[in-house]
Amino acid sequence: MRFVFLGLPGAGKGTQARILSERLDIPQISTGDILREHVQEGTRLGIEARTYMDRGEYVPDDVVVRMVEERLGEPDASKGFILDGFPRTVRQAQALEVALVELGTPLTAVVKFTISDTTAIRRIIGRYTCPVCKRTYHQEWRPPANDQLCDVDGTPLEKRSDEDELTVKRRLAIYREQTEPLERYYAERGLLRDVDAEARMDTVTERMLAALGDAV
Ligand code: AMP
Repeated sequence: MRFVFLGLPGAGKGTQARILSERLDIPQISTGDILREHVQEGTRLGIEARTYMDRGEYVPDDVVVRMVEERLGEPDASKGFILDGFPRTVRQAQALEVALVELGTPLTAVVKFTISDTTAIRRIIGRYTCPVCKRTYHQEWRPPANDQLCDVDGTPLEKRSDEDELTVKRRLAIYREQTEPLERYYAERGLLRDVDAEARMDTVTERMLAALGDAV
C-alpha cells in the first residue's frame, strides 16, 4: 500500500497520515518533518533548506528527491508508505514515478484533502506542534489539555517559523502555482481520490477511509 497525500497547508495531511499509518502499520514519510530535523541538527542540508523554508518557498527538487529516494530505500518502507508533503512539483512526481517503476512498486492511490484558503489560513495561524511526536493542536479548536504541553508526551508545544500570516499566504500561492498541477497529473493516471476536509478530524478520517475503499 503506497499512498501520496496532497492538499493545502492545514488540510490535515499530517494528522490523517498519522492515523492511516498506525492503522495500516506503514511509515508516514513527511518531507517537512525530515527537513525540520535537518534544520534542528544543523546539517549542511538543513542550513541550505532553512533559507527556503523560512520564506515559505520550496526546497529545490533535487535535494528533496534525493532525500525521499534514500528514505524509500529503508527497510520499513518495503511494506508500503504514506508520503505526506511529497511530491509538491511535477518534477518531483516524475522522479517518484521513475523510482517506483525501478522498485516495481507503483502507487496505490493519491488522496487530495480539499479546504478553502480561509480555512487553511485560520488553521495554520492557530496551530502549535509537538516537536517530538509532531502532533498538532489548535488554540481554539483543539487546545491541549494542559497549557501548551503535548497531551501525549508532555513536551512544550512550538510555533513553526513559517506559520505567520504573510508566510502562509505565500505558501498558498506557491501551492496553487507548483503543486495544484499534480492533481491533474494523478487524475490522468486514475489515482486521485478527493476528500472534503472542511470538517472535524474524525469525519475527515471516515471520508478518507471511504474514498480509499478497497485500497485499505
Ligand atoms: P510541510 O511541513 O509539509 O508544510 O513543509 C514545510 C516546508 O518544508 C515547506 O514549506 C517547504 O519549504 C519544505 N518542503 C517540504 N516538503 C517539500 C517538498 N516536497 N518540496 C519542496 N519543499 C518541501
